[in-house]
Amino acid sequence: MQIHALRTGFVQIKRAQQIGVGHGLARRVRPFLDSTWTDWLPTYAWAIEHEEGVIVVDTGSASGDAHLRSWHPYHRFDVRFRVEAREELGPQLRALGIGTSDVAKVVVTHLHMDHGAGLPHVAGRPTVVHAGELQAAQGLSGRLQGYLPGQWGTGFDPQGLSWQGQPLGPFESTAPLTRSGDVVAVQTPGHTPHHLSVVIKGDVNIFLAGDTSYTQDALLVGQVDGVSPDEGQAQNTLQRIRLLAAERPLVYLPTHDPESASRLSTLDVVTPKASPVRLAATLP
Ligand SMILES: [Zn+2]
Repeated sequence: MQIHALRTGFVQIKRAQQIGVGHGLARRVRPFLDSTWTDWLPTYAWAIEHEEGVIVVDTGSASGDAHLRSWHPYHRFDVRFRVEAREELGPQLRALGIGTSDVAKVVVTHLHMDHGAGLPHVAGRPTVVHAGELQAAQGLSGRLQGYLPGQWGTGFDPQGLSWQGQPLGPFESTAPLTRSGDVVAVQTPGHTPHHLSVVIKGDVNIFLAGDTSYTQDALLVGQVDGVSPDEGQAQNTLQRIRLLAAERPLVYLPTHDPESASRLSTLDVVTPKASPVRLAATLP
């Protein structure tokens, strides 16, 4: 089984989104008040070449994201994209010799724009999203939260997941993504209330983390971002991932971590520390 890291361009967010500052509502307002930007961060999608067919996890950004016209304050003031057409999911799959019909399943960790903008490249393929995430992204409430259903393509009709699979360490339930059960989804609420992650099980577990944290360092110190609605829920998820990593070697791969691709290629496992300290954030 081979796993490919597909970098669909870069994104910049506010520092106070990457590293949450304060608590409660203040933490979620702070990114809008912050004038400092992160470096350009990669946006990864993943292709798992599995004997049952290719599994695509997240679909990345699209070149149109850089020119998006939106009334939403987050899109207007708090995020910037740099994506070329050749960096989108479709061209990258083709460069690997993977045609659309080779894709057995598309799994979306959550429906934020830099995870769902590539969906039209895999239109018509069986697609799964957490039912709660799909529900949250619908209608006016979804628009107010910044979801952009227009990106997903007219044929977007994902299925929910059945969380009846075997427990995986501290995750009480899983949703199998293959008949053999070696690739599963786990529920990792925090960044969004119905966020999921994908685990390729083996002697070393590969954890495709979506936006559970922006970096591995944030996982290790339990640092919640500036957009998670429920800080305690996000911390609980980070704790579960650390527990899973303590049980069995685990390679942790967040979507926007600049080190994710190199950690995948060298199978560089995460080592949870005994006594976490918080990341220091200095902001004006
Ligand atoms: Zn997100």
